[in-house]
Amino acid sequence: GIGTFFLQKLSAMTAVAIENCLNQQRLREISYQDVLTRVYNRRYFDLRLKDEIARSLRWKDDLVCMFLDVDYFKRINDTYGHQIGDDVLVRTASLIKMQVRACDIVARYGGEEFVVVLPATSLQSAHEIAERLRQSVHSNLYDFQGEQFRVSISIGMANLKNFCPSSPQDKPNCESIGTLLLARADAALYQAKESGRNQIAVFTNDDLKP
Ligand code: GH3
Ligand code: MG
Ligand code: MG
Repeated sequence: GIGTFFLQKLSAMTAVAIENCLNQQRLREISYQDVLTRVYNRRYFDLRLKDEIARSLRWKDDLVCMFLDVDYFKRINDTYGHQIGDDVLVRTASLIKMQVRACDIVARYGGEEFVVVLPATSLQSAHEIAERLRQSVHSNLYDFQGEQFRVSISIGMANLKNFCPSSPQDKPNCESIGTLLLARADAALYQAKESGRNQIAVFTNDDLKP
């Protein structure tokens, strides 16, 4: 009868509405996720970093930023193929996620580069976490058609308190502080690579001296 018709119509419309809602939620999630590794993407990371810096300055907390780069990744691609390279990236991302706390932000910053932000963390504890990360990636054994291989990462890190020691009088530009912090972590990463890879380097103010 007519009542049944309305109920059918209503349930169909409700179903569509729910589906739209779920799709929107999914879209929101996708737009801040890296498709391959499922960690945050760079766009989202940059937004979050800004917020975390603002919060850290407000609470006079330290914050540590890490740059992680897979060593000789090109060689992995060349030796085992791009697909295995992708698998290594997925695995590396998940090993990183497993070692950090829920409040830490892990993102893929570029091809084989990841960034981790550790809010409310001292440089010393961050160093211990970085060491754990380095070890967990290096102790993972990959198997390619019976041939076993390992992968290592180099880590560069820099902390906020090192160059934002006092509470700022004016409204701080958290975006440019974030850019500077990342540049310092990247410079430290370069040091870790230069020193032979599979290691951690910390940016200190001494690095600013010519
Ligand atoms: P280093 O130890 O100095 O970091 O050397 P590297 O070989 O890791 O660094 P390089 O920058 O020379 O090579 C990075 C390679 O990563 C080159 C690029 O083809 C590859 N790459 C970038 N994105 C992806 C990806 O999404 N999947 C795969 N499989 N490879 C990627
Ligand atoms: Mg790189
Ligand atoms: Mg690399």
